[in-house]
Amino acid sequence: MPQPGRQGRLVRGTLPTLSDSALLTEVVEVIRQPAGDAVHIEDARVIVAGGRGLGGARGLALLEDLADALGGVVAGSRAAVEQGWLPHEQQVGQTGRTVRPKLYIACGISGAIQHLVGMQNSEVVVAINRDPEAPIFRACNYGIVGDLFEVVPALTQRFRQARQEWEHQLTAAATDLASYGGHPHGS
Ligand SMILES: Cc1cc2nc3c(=O)[nH]c(=O)nc-3n(C[C@H](O)[C@H](O)[C@H](O)COP(=O)(O)OP(=O)(O)OC[C@H]3O[C@@H](n4cnc5c(N)ncnc54)[C@H](O)[C@@H]3O)c2cc1C
Repeated sequence: MPQPGRQGRLVRGTLPTLSDSALLTEVVEVIRQPAGDAVHIEDARVIVAGGRGLGGARGLALLEDLADALGGVVAGSRAAVEQGWLPHEQQVGQTGRTVRPKLYIACGISGAIQHLVGMQNSEVVVAINRDPEAPIFRACNYGIVGDLFEVVPALTQRFRQARQEWEHQLTAAATDLASYGGHPHGS
């Protein structure tokens, strides 16, 4: 606030040039993520989400495998993002993204209200948690009480098997149809 009777004085100075050795940080490499590689969880039909229960890279790899089997994407809770397992763009919840997939599989997520507000409009919610009292079980359609390190690979295997069977049936049906087409009805 200006004060009557007081005046400022303009002083020109020069800042010392900082040498590289005086800097405490160093840019080692800049890695840019190609725009096409970004995961858009808001548009996903299937989301496999992980929380603190993932424990790290091994748990995350299991989720990626399940997401791959289902043609979905991986997302997570704030705890998973804070641990550095997932980028913030893949966080679901109050301070993350709001999602509305057809299928949301929550693995090792307790079900805090700040997480639920971001996924409560999912069509079908499956929860996997080893704590039968976890609040997520009150917000899901199907709950599996168990260790995600056992449950998730078993689900992945089952889905892959079902897909193979379905593809086999589809191939058989296409072959039938082709042979039927070669001998038109009545000929
Ligand atoms: C202002 C504010 C905004 C927030 N915004 C968000 C937000 O946007 N999104 C969000 O997610 N959170 C948000 N939070 C944080 C939120 O309150 C919770 O702390 C967070 O959601 C907890 O994450 P979590 O469920 O992964 O971890 P935890 O609550 O620690 O739960 C981990 C769960 O994993 C289970 N588990 C552990 N090991 C296994 C295993 N091997 N197999 C199966 N289950 C296992 C445990 O039983 C437990 O239920 C916010 C909080 C605040 C205050």
